[in-house]
Amino acid sequence: MKDIFRLFGYARGLYKYVIFVAIAGVLIALLDMIAPFVIKFATDAISLSISSKTALKLDYLILLLIILAISYISSAILGNINGYIGDVLAAKMRFKLSCVYYDHLLILPQSYYDNENTGKIISRLDRAIADVTRFINMFSNVLLQMLLTVVISVGVMLWYSWEIAIIVVLQIPIYIYITMLTSKKWQKMEDDKNQYLDIARGRFSEVIGNIRLVKSFGTERRESRFFAKNFNQTVGITKYQSKYWHSMDTIRSLVQVSVYIIVYAILFWRAAKGQITMGDLILIITLLQQTSRPMQNMSFFVDMYQRAVANSKDYAKVMLETPEIAKKGGEKITSNVARVEYEDVTFAYDDKPIIRNVSFAIEPGEKLALVSASGGGKTTLSNLLMKLYSPNSGKISINNKNIADLNTNALRSKIATVFQDAILFSGTVRENIAYANPKASNKDIERAARVANAFGFINELENGFDTMVGERGVKLSGGQRQRIAIARAILKDAPVLILDEATSALDSYAEHEVQKALDRLMKGRTTLIIAHRLSTIANVDKIVTLKDGKIDEIGTPFELAKTNGIYSQLLDIQVSATKDTKKKLQKFDIAG
Ligand code: ADP
Ligand code: MG
Repeated sequence: MKDIFRLFGYARGLYKYVIFVAIAGVLIALLDMIAPFVIKFATDAISLSISSKTALKLDYLILLLIILAISYISSAILGNINGYIGDVLAAKMRFKLSCVYYDHLLILPQSYYDNENTGKIISRLDRAIADVTRFINMFSNVLLQMLLTVVISVGVMLWYSWEIAIIVVLQIPIYIYITMLTSKKWQKMEDDKNQYLDIARGRFSEVIGNIRLVKSFGTERRESRFFAKNFNQTVGITKYQSKYWHSMDTIRSLVQVSVYIIVYAILFWRAAKGQITMGDLILIITLLQQTSRPMQNMSFFVDMYQRAVANSKDYAKVMLETPEIAKKGGEKITSNVARVEYEDVTFAYDDKPIIRNVSFAIEPGEKLALVSASGGGKTTLSNLLMKLYSPNSGKISINNKNIADLNTNALRSKIATVFQDAILFSGTVRENIAYANPKASNKDIERAARVANAFGFINELENGFDTMVGERGVKLSGGQRQRIAIARAILKDAPVLILDEATSALDSYAEHEVQKALDRLMKGRTTLIIAHRLSTIANVDKIVTLKDGKIDEIGTPFELAKTNGIYSQLLDIQVSATKDTKKKLQKFDIAG
């Protein structure tokens, strides 16, 4: 219930449309009230002339016909204007709900995405939008109009016969009671349906996104069955849910029919006894018929409401997730020289301690390599520097400023990254290189490509810099993708650089080409390297080795080569290079 009102809150600025639609609805309801009266007056005039055998007042009848025509035409025109505004309102509502959702998702912390699934996220948006928009449209369009029609009709009936008015009004609490009886159960079924839908759709988007893997394992049929099995659950639930709803609706209709029969009986009786005129009889019957639609709509309205509540729940839950602790204000680093320092940093994912009391510094322009067993926390340390997660204790600073106090966007603009798998967007090579700065000139883009050792192969592509790379860059080789990623980092021109196993996905030729590019990229930048090759590590200024989340050793490659610590052991292993020792190297994410 409160979720719905929260969603209404996102529609701020749309109130004027809602109000217009509601007022137009009221006017239409009023216009529609004219016809029953006009018909009553006409009937009375006609029956009077028949019973008293006097001439019919023609001009009076023509006047009534003109009023009738005007009321019908204005109602139709107003109805269409209202429909138009309603469409605009719905479109704007869809737009707003999508934008606030997307904007909110973009500022949710990395940890949120560790436990989420793209397909589910989109599925939630879709259903919230569809049902909430329909509900708001119905709400503004129908609710007031409906209430007004009922109130006026019942008022008129009251004038003629309080018994009839009471019987008609009695329907309403009965409907509401039936609805309240069904609401909980109906919503529970809708929730269940959504769970299955999310599982199916979540897998759908994951499978389509990883179609190569699916093809390579030949698991198309298994995936298809998984999807069908979960989606099919929604059919079963819908059958049950719909049967349930329609049984309840049948009861509602039975109530309505009983009411009508009783009211007609009273009316016929009174008309036969001459207590009411033929015109009165027709007036009340027309009014009754006019209220029957709103009465039916009431259950339709409740249905819409139930749908909207059930289907906006998950949307609302996403909107309630706490955004990442992004400093909007906060200081900015202006210098293009950076000194990075970790001081007594401790960090755990949930309750799993990964980093314990780690302290080290990278001087401006220095290269520091992190070495640990696979899963030892190297990537985690680099994530902390980007503020993707926050340390549980200790602090990380750049140029002596705690990054927790820095403006998050400004901080990230000072850090360039190259990861193991170069992630590109679908689009051209040029757009991908210019991702850090869409306004970069062609000259700058080409220069970055040259430094990244990518200019040659890009020019050999079919359309050069305008070649489309495909989703995530599938149309390029790993080495090519990586060099475009490096060109992208070069164009970003940030003083801090993170290289996380940037060459580990490549064959040795590609690795050689990429390494040359990386060497140029690192020049003059403060670099945190998580290296894949011992030869890369040998060229850094400082090595930090980690063991059980703690620092084991810090020193230059030259110093650590002699200490018999992790690094020197790795060097020894490499020299002996048997099968066994190769395995040991692999444990450290290092190739021999
Ligand atoms: P490395 O880069 O040294 O191989 P990572 O920093 O990636 O290691 O991971 C360190 C540990 O943290 C591993 O045990 C891994 O399972 C765990 N881990 C990594 N990312 C997450 C995450 N998002 N949530 C929970 N645990 C994680
Ligand atoms: Mg890693």
